[in-house]
This record gives sequence, C-alpha cells and structure tokens, in this order.
Amino acid sequence: MSQQRRPLIAGNWKMNGLAAATGEFIELVRLSKEKDNPACDILICPPATLISKMADLAKGSSVAIGGQDCHAAESGAHTGDIAAEMIKDAGGSHCIVGHSERRADHNESNATVKAKAEAALRAGLVAIVCVGETLAEREADRTLDIISDQVKNSLPAGATAANTVIAYEPVWAIGTGKTPTPLDVAAVHAHIRKELGTLMHDSAAVRVLYGGSVKGSNAAELMAVENVDGALVGGASLKAADFWPIVETSI
Ligand code: PEP
Repeated sequence: MSQQRRPLIAGNWKMNGLAAATGEFIELVRLSKEKDNPACDILICPPATLISKMADLAKGSSVAIGGQDCHAAESGAHTGDIAAEMIKDAGGSHCIVGHSERRADHNESNATVKAKAEAALRAGLVAIVCVGETLAEREADRTLDIISDQVKNSLPAGATAANTVIAYEPVWAIGTGKTPTPLDVAAVHAHIRKELGTLMHDSAAVRVLYGGSVKGSNAAELMAVENVDGALVGGASLKAADFWPIVETSI
C-alpha cells in the first residue's frame, strides 16, 4: 500500500440483490460511520435497480455507490442499456467497465471498454477499468503482454489519477477461491504501473486495485503487496460481515 495513494475497497454485487439486500448495505453504512476518518475509500456497485435507493441510504456516510457497466452513448435507442449519465443522475460516482464477465459474456473488446470508460468520464464518474488474463493466457506465459494490450487500449482518453482506477483481476481467480501468489500480484501491478507511466502524466498517483477471490482471510496479505492500492471484491462484498474485514485492512 502506498502513502501517496488512498486505498479504494470496492464491492461488485454483480446480478445479486433485491430491495431486501439493502439491509446488508445499511449495516455496512453503519459500520463505516463508526470510523470518523476512514483512511480508505469504500464503494459498492449494486445492480442498476438499487443505485438510487442505496445512494440515498449512503447519504452522510463515506460509502460511495457506482454502476457495474454503462453504454458508451449518452442516450438513444439502446434497449436494456444504461448510460453513464443515468448512473450519475441516480447518485452514483463510479462505474466499473471492462469486467471480464462483460468482456466474455458480451464480447466486449478493448475498444468498447475504452468507449465506455470515456462515457463514464464524460458523465463525471470515476471509471474503474478492469484488466486480467485468462488461465490459458497465464499458462502460455502471455500474462504481461495481455495486460499491456488491455491497459493501452482500454484506458480512456483524458484519464487522470482522479478520474480513472485500474483493477487487475485475473479471470481464473474470479469467483474460484484461487488467488495468485503475492509475488505474482506484485509483478503484474508493477507492470501495470510501468505501462501507465508511458500513457499518463500522473501515473504514480493512479490507484491499481487487485480483484479475484479477495476475502477477509487473504485481504491483508494481498493489500500489503507493493503497488496494490485496494481491492475489487465480488462474492465477499454481498454481506457486510464479510466485506467489513476487507475494508478494515485498509482503514
Ligand atoms: C469480481 O467479480 O470483480 C470479483 C473479484 O469476484 P470475486 O471476489 O467473487 O472473485
């Protein structure tokens, strides 16, 4: 963890959560309020249906709300999609783009992810741009090349440390209970920071999160890795009792 970068602990609820699930969020907000000056940023990205309700519940707390995806356009004939401006309008401040589930399930290319990240910036949201290699790519020793390609080609024009966060999420670690070793995480994060150095003037201040099977029992070890500035958490973000210990590693 770096002195100059404020950690971000972000939860991605994916397609989980009906209105009743906001009870877990209310508990998270309560826990966050027990900390006067949390030393990290806390974010939950619920399904789009809950953004507005949870943004209201988060008022007066240090917990931010975000979207999990957005369309590149501001409005138009795109049935079922959501614009970054709508996320902002509903009370969101961040938007995940390029999650591997979107890249795989919806065939999203780096160019699509970049356009979505640019839409997030246009709407005044912080873009959380996800990158990560598949197991086959890791086994073929292509991890760093894949990451370079994704970072270079998914980064939005106009990216700064204030408006863009990178999340390194090895695809094979998402939802599997498997994690890379701290040494492997360190190698990829150092590589991402080096790439960012060629692309951004304030790259040293950009937060690079780790994501993939982060839980209370491994968070401290992962958050202690050099150049890891927080976590993007899926499964363990759904329950306050699971998520809070991860926050506590950085608070
Ligand atoms: C994710 O979906 O971004 C993620 C990291 O999931 P999990 O923590 O469940 O592996």
